[in-house]
Amino acid sequence: MLRKELNIHNFKDLLEHYPLRHIDKTNIDKIASLKLGEEYAYVAGILSDINLVGEGRGKRLVAHLKDDTGIIELVWFQGINWVQKSLVPGHAYLAFGRLSFFMGKPQIAHPDFEPYTSQKASGKQHLEPIYSSTEKLKAKGLNGAALAKFTQELFLKISSKDLPENIPPSILQFYKLMPRFEAYQQIHFPATPQQFELALRRLKFEELFFAQLRINMIKMQRHRFSRGWAFEKVGDLFNNFYNHHLPFALTNAQKKVLKEIRKDFGSGKQMNRLLQGDVGSGKTMVALLSMLIAADNGFQNVLMAPTEILAQQHFISIKNYVGNLPIGIEILTGSTKAKARKLILENCENGNISILIGTHAVIEEKVQFKNLGFAVIDEQHKFGVAQRAKLWKKNTIPPHILVMTATPIPRTLALTAYGDLDYSVMDELPPGRKPISTIHRNESARPQVMDFIKDQIKAGRQAYIIYPLIEESSKLDYENLMKGYEEVKSFFPEPRYWISMVHGRQSAEEKETNMQRFVTGDTQIMVSTTVIEVGVNVPNASVMSIESAEKFGLSQLHQLRGRVGRGVDKSYCILLTGNKLSKDARERMNIMVETNDGFKVAEKDLEIRGPGEIEGTRQSGALNFKLVNIVADKAILEVAREEVEKLLSNDPDLLAAENLPIKNHLQLQQHKTGWGKIA
Ligand code: ADP
Ligand code: MG
Repeated sequence: MLRKELNIHNFKDLLEHYPLRHIDKTNIDKIASLKLGEEYAYVAGILSDINLVGEGRGKRLVAHLKDDTGIIELVWFQGINWVQKSLVPGHAYLAFGRLSFFMGKPQIAHPDFEPYTSQKASGKQHLEPIYSSTEKLKAKGLNGAALAKFTQELFLKISSKDLPENIPPSILQFYKLMPRFEAYQQIHFPATPQQFELALRRLKFEELFFAQLRINMIKMQRHRFSRGWAFEKVGDLFNNFYNHHLPFALTNAQKKVLKEIRKDFGSGKQMNRLLQGDVGSGKTMVALLSMLIAADNGFQNVLMAPTEILAQQHFISIKNYVGNLPIGIEILTGSTKAKARKLILENCENGNISILIGTHAVIEEKVQFKNLGFAVIDEQHKFGVAQRAKLWKKNTIPPHILVMTATPIPRTLALTAYGDLDYSVMDELPPGRKPISTIHRNESARPQVMDFIKDQIKAGRQAYIIYPLIEESSKLDYENLMKGYEEVKSFFPEPRYWISMVHGRQSAEEKETNMQRFVTGDTQIMVSTTVIEVGVNVPNASVMSIESAEKFGLSQLHQLRGRVGRGVDKSYCILLTGNKLSKDARERMNIMVETNDGFKVAEKDLEIRGPGEIEGTRQSGALNFKLVNIVADKAILEVAREEVEKLLSNDPDLLAAENLPIKNHLQLQQHKTGWGKIA
């Protein structure tokens, strides 16, 4: 039962079922003094009555507890039989639980309770742990109080031998960390609030230390043992392109990352690198230059994009970049016609194609390479781990891999979530970009916004108007988009204005046609859902207007904003929202207005929503912490990481006697690892 409901399998799991909080049980609340907004109530009194009320699904058990100041209602929807047997009217009880108010009267649903004796209330301060339980367990009498009892009994049976110290003494001393066994005791049954804080700090440090250690060890193992293709030279293709075809000077950030990649290419180990660069930082060029190096060494390349439109865009811009250089470039997507496909597959297998661009179609079984050496994955969070794994099998030794993402993740988080990857950042935009002005307006200002867009179009620019797509095939979203489209049309009638529309229900061809019309300037307005979110590059577009902007996440808004400001003209991002906004939504709009820096946006997003919601980290098991809150505990995270780095550079195999506790602990935990290779 415990196993199923709370995932508690053994004594360690029980010990790691940490209390939600502690209450000082000498401090009983007076019922009359309970106030709206207080989270918990802890009351004592006489049970005046207990009755079953309601029928069927509405059936519940209602009791009233009375102290000398007032009455509180206790209510149960489940486990009714057991509660009914346990509670006797006229007897005194302590009740504890989440406080709510119903028609102005205090109430606790599913309280923990125990008989009340006066000696319970006397004595000095003692902090009792409050544990979460589930309704099913409570129905069997296994409420929070029972779990507390279990845990207490467990401590009588175990000693520090069962929970051996796993952090070396020098680190314990330096950071004044509580010994391990003591920390487990104190986090459950603290002698004082101070002891509890110390225990918490110690266990958080431990959690972060081992999470970081595991991830760094995976990376170290890979660096030491994984074989990779060695690209030894920089040849004609690269040099020719670099000297004669490069349309602009590289930014320092692009140069830096290119250097990192070249070093990996030459190492004889497989590269597994994550490249984070804000929207518009010029990742495509970095990818292309790297692919040219691979080609110079006789290897083929693939570039995978998450959508057909993006694959097209990459194909067009890379074709443009390379001009007439002798290098085979093809595009393969789900909508490639059978005849063309056949030819592409042939040319891939015989090595004529040097750069194959496409959607996940490029990693299908049928696509065979003569000598694949390098794979670039754009906007990685749209790819599943399994899809990426297919790549590994495309040659006798897995290709080098570069994962590119424009969803900036705060550095602290990235090093934990992606610590097993090599990690590059491009935190610089190409020169000459005019910063995008972001403006927040209520829906009622839509006519003015449309007029503004008209002015921009008159000046020769183009505009995006984006509608939310909350669910892939949601009817409501679709209807909203259509309504929006009609409205836009009424503002911008043909034949003066032409509008493209792209959405998820169109066929690939329809999307493509509409997209191309916008890219070539045949249409001035693109009405779309978020399908154009990533990557699309139309430098002449100067307005990004986002409808119901409050329904988007910050990173998404930032991505969308990145679609403009790509040319020489001043660009604008307009956030249209409902007139009434929640505090949270208002805050998000303000952040967008205040900063254009994707890393700052991500940092704020993390603060507001927590790491679980940050795109790209959700699947990363590395962030499933029991005690740690990655935002609040940043300081501990940083020291833990420093210590891990120091440790592994001094003693990579953990051979020193001092580090034996760590080694033993890792061996015990070994079966628990499993989030390894991301690409
Ligand atoms: P992202 O990193 O968002 O994928 P892109 O690779 O699409 O960015 O580049 C955005 C735009 O910036 C493109 O038009 C590209 O040609 C241009 N660009 C890239 N690097 C530079 C540079 N060093 N100088 C000037 N423009 C650049
Ligand atoms: Mg891109």
